[in-house]
Amino acid sequence: MDESLKRYDSLKEALTDIYGKDVGVCQKSPVSGGDINRAYLLRACDGGVLFLKENTADNLNFFIKEAEGLEAIRKTKAISVPVVKACGRDGFDSFLLMEFIMQGSRNKDFYEEFGRDLAAMHAADTEEYTGSGSFGFVSDNYIGAGYQVNTPEEKWIDFFRLKRLLPQIKRAEKWFNDTESKALDRLLEKAGDILVEPEKPALLHGDLWSGNYMTGPDGRAWLIDPAVYVGHPEADIAMTELFGGFPKAFYGGYFEAAGKMPGYEDRRDLYNLYHLLNHLNLFGATYHRAVMSVVYRYTG
Ligand code: ADP
Repeated sequence: MDESLKRYDSLKEALTDIYGKDVGVCQKSPVSGGDINRAYLLRACDGGVLFLKENTADNLNFFIKEAEGLEAIRKTKAISVPVVKACGRDGFDSFLLMEFIMQGSRNKDFYEEFGRDLAAMHAADTEEYTGSGSFGFVSDNYIGAGYQVNTPEEKWIDFFRLKRLLPQIKRAEKWFNDTESKALDRLLEKAGDILVEPEKPALLHGDLWSGNYMTGPDGRAWLIDPAVYVGHPEADIAMTELFGGFPKAFYGGYFEAAGKMPGYEDRRDLYNLYHLLNHLNLFGATYHRAVMSVVYRYTG
């Protein structure tokens, strides 16, 4: 989808193209905080600074999908994301180069603005991202290291059941006994009674926890590391609450701009079940109890 993203056969080639001349690397300092890739501040010898992510060569697709997601969010012009510069392979590694976010001090109304900006992103037009249906995305991508199916569906409820819950449940089969599998089947059947269609499809960040936003040089929230798709906006809001919640001002700003979502609290845990299942598939048994407690809350 993102034809503007150039792929290179070496980091050196990418840097030469970005700076218009052959530049050396004067600094490569590790940046901590990520959980999948190796991350660095990269200073080119002419003084330019970039953010570099590296993984093994066979994981280039992760970076292509991350770049597509950042580009989709950038196009909404609602909230800032780092500009992606290049990706490619370099020997046994794959890499992604983007703008380095120089962190500023937070504006006084940081969280309220963040909420309003996210509401504006959710209000943006989504037609170009879904092709044949209303919900989904032009291609599959990743949620953390987990594969995320985005084949479009006309109805949000179908999309969430068939493209979010079902693939994760199938992948997690080995963790469930017969009784638990039956409860999961019941939940899939019942999901249509619990969920509602949105007023309008929205481009979602898709993995909106506190590790995936930063303070930019303008003092506002910048989004990183998306797992974008077009869905119901409340799925993004639910994710912000999965690991403790964002500060109150964020929700104030969001709901003031986007309007209330009646009954959202009854659906929140079902949305987050997708992420808990993904964690069960990626990290194993420690998430089993959390998954089943949500399932039984809905199925009795
Ligand atoms: P991973 O893909 O491994 O989860 P992240 O994208 O979360 O890695 O990046 C790791 C850390 O690097 C983040 O927690 C954040 O602190 C920092 N970071 C991410 N993107 C940028 C950027 N564009 N500029 C500067 N720092 C960044």
